[in-house]
Amino acid sequence: MRDYIPFGKPNFSEEEIQEVTRVLKSGWIGMGSETISFENELKDYFDVSNVVCVNSCTSALYLSLLALGVKSGDEVICPSYTWCSTANAALYLGAKPVFCDIDPNSYCITPESVSDKITDKTKAVIPVHMGGIAADIDGISEVMPKKCHIIEDAAHAIGSKFPNDLPVGSSGNLTCFSFYANKNLSTGEGGAIALNDNKIAEKLRSFRLHGLSSDAWNRFIDPKSKIVPEIHELGFKMNYTDLNASIGRVQLRRLGELFNRRAEIADYYVDIIQKLPYHVKIQKNILSPGHAKHLFLIELPLDDIEITRDEFVLKMRDFGIGASIHYLPLHMMDYYKGIDNCKLVKTENLYERVMTLPISASMTIKDAEYVMEVFSKIMEGTI
Ligand SMILES: *Cc1c(COP(=O)(O)O)cnc(C)c1O
Repeated sequence: MRDYIPFGKPNFSEEEIQEVTRVLKSGWIGMGSETISFENELKDYFDVSNVVCVNSCTSALYLSLLALGVKSGDEVICPSYTWCSTANAALYLGAKPVFCDIDPNSYCITPESVSDKITDKTKAVIPVHMGGIAADIDGISEVMPKKCHIIEDAAHAIGSKFPNDLPVGSSGNLTCFSFYANKNLSTGEGGAIALNDNKIAEKLRSFRLHGLSSDAWNRFIDPKSKIVPEIHELGFKMNYTDLNASIGRVQLRRLGELFNRRAEIADYYVDIIQKLPYHVKIQKNILSPGHAKHLFLIELPLDDIEITRDEFVLKMRDFGIGASIHYLPLHMMDYYKGIDNCKLVKTENLYERVMTLPISASMTIKDAEYVMEVFSKIMEGTI
């Protein structure tokens, strides 16, 4: 039997294992010097003045909105075609997520789709860099009223680049990353916010750990200090840990290597798919060096095949391939219908035919060959 090929699988080398072991043996596994080093290394990578690590991208999005003053009654524009965290960040604050449509080729929200949803209650927009392609942040920033904020959901986009070749994370907007188990840079759980605003960064550092000022936190981790830190506002327990950071530091150094492995798989898929006698549409610019290739998104030519998209995905799973569907749009779920009952034609059209082929830095070309063999046979109707 072949091993199941999951849609995303982390890739760890001996180095991550050595580093996490070193921190385990050090006697300090909470948030401390490893986290600070990881933050500094991310800061250099993004070329921003602040990076604040937290326990997830969900927390990063929530704390960003909170620190920017988004509150009950405000509206936050975001895609419906995303993971629930994007919209939930607004809901936690009593704000209303307002869903907007996507571009049918990049699958990201656009200046036009955002602009359609702006009202005098709009306080923020959360574009998602879908699958690892950079959304049009400059264009969106041009249509947003001056008082509004842009928070980038870059859960898929560590290693992604804007068209000007600068990394996603460098824009100066609060940019939220995920280090969850199946993300491109994985530390099991984790997240980070990259930003340039020192004052907002201070707030984020306080909110992530109980409302301790970072001064108090420095004293807190200094074993020689006798001073009891004081809480100065209501904060949360959303901090990162040194155990995670020790893994993240190695993953960051290996980011180029991990990217190259994904690129190899993506190259192979595109080559085979383009030779098939069907028009399987692939997400725009998947092969561009700026696309982090977190997801390999395609649209099935439903008119040319006998089975439904769901049956297609299940059939691939029967053959040991972790094909998947990203995403069931939020506005099509009952829960979110009660929040923003809207019609989004392009999102709904995409959802009918979209599916995700497995891609990860742990896959080999042999795995990719098998995926394409099974994919082609299901297309032909021979299995
Ligand atoms: C994974 C993901 C998140 C949440 O990341 P966590 O670190 O698991 O909280 C947010 N947005 C998108 C688009 C994601 O895919």
